[in-house]
Amino acid sequence: MSLTLYVDGARFRAHLRSVVDRHPGIVPVAKGNGYGLSNARLALEAQTLGIDTLAVGTYDEVDQVASLFTGDLLVLTPWRPFGTAVEAGPDPRVIHTIGRVEDLTGLLTRDPEARVVLERMTSMLRHGFTARDLRSTAEVLAAHPGARLEGVSMHLPMGGASHVTEMHRLMTDVVAAGLDTHTVWVSHLSDAELAGLRAAYPDFTFRPRIGTDLWLGDRAALRVRATVLDSHHVERGDTFGYRSRTAPKSGTILVVGGGTAHGIGLEAPTGAATVKARAATLARGGLDAAGFVRSPYSIDGKQRLFAEPPHMQASMLFVPSGAKVPAVGDEVDVRVRFTATTFDRVVFS
Ligand SMILES: *Cc1c(COP(=O)(O)O)cnc(C)c1O
Repeated sequence: MSLTLYVDGARFRAHLRSVVDRHPGIVPVAKGNGYGLSNARLALEAQTLGIDTLAVGTYDEVDQVASLFTGDLLVLTPWRPFGTAVEAGPDPRVIHTIGRVEDLTGLLTRDPEARVVLERMTSMLRHGFTARDLRSTAEVLAAHPGARLEGVSMHLPMGGASHVTEMHRLMTDVVAAGLDTHTVWVSHLSDAELAGLRAAYPDFTFRPRIGTDLWLGDRAALRVRATVLDSHHVERGDTFGYRSRTAPKSGTILVVGGGTAHGIGLEAPTGAATVKARAATLARGGLDAAGFVRSPYSIDGKQRLFAEPPHMQASMLFVPSGAKVPAVGDEVDVRVRFTATTFDRVVFS
């Protein structure tokens, strides 16, 4: 009834299938809010895709997918000797990411048969081993013969310059570490970069971890709509809202579903309003001169302004006279950041 994500099921699944077919060894990523779709839903989709491994972000997320996806579960956040990672206990389906020598020892002391992926630090500087520390893991692994090394992992920055030079440098470190694995788990490489790596290191298997381009790669399969909950005609000077503001001219205060609890933000996510553009609207005496801020809701073909900042579960928009006003119960389009939005409903056709 409020903020709904409509998914064109056939189109969404055709896209998933095409990404999976083009990326052998793909590891779909289900984490956070499940890219707007929920991790449980992603686990179900992953199960039907027939892939062998699903990645989750944290140890706390394992339970969200474990009963819905029957394959292996790679946890992307590196293991640490505290919290859920330790409390959960050994699980043969879980593949741990390790980024520090003491954590490799710590995990293998608790679970001598643990499955591990060793993360090599990249220019991201988030987690992982230096080249030298990666070399010393070989010794630790030799001392724990039950340990199962599932590969080396690299998390690269998004987009920007080519990753090729950095990947070759990191691959040199992997080869030099003399580890007993030929699997490299990677992220954010273009198809061309992946193909180049596979050609340059034919004895290695590269496994791309993909979230956004998989689940959200075909935006036309997704539509976000909010229900119109109420509609009030106002004349210039009429007061409204929590802050008793006054309408700058005649129009409609439209109450729509979706607020801060859903992650609806003050400004449209891709709003390109520069300081200069804003100054220009101000000079023209536009509505934002009245303190109104752009909303992500579209009505009658235009992105509308918030009449006041979003409330917890609803938002008040100002629609000036002349525009076609939707009726209570109608739905209007909303632009959202899927990874930061909680929907009331996700409806698959
Ligand atoms: C989130 C994440 C990914 C997937 O990122 P997308 O941009 O959503 O494809 C891959 N690897 C790691 C380590 C991640 O944390």
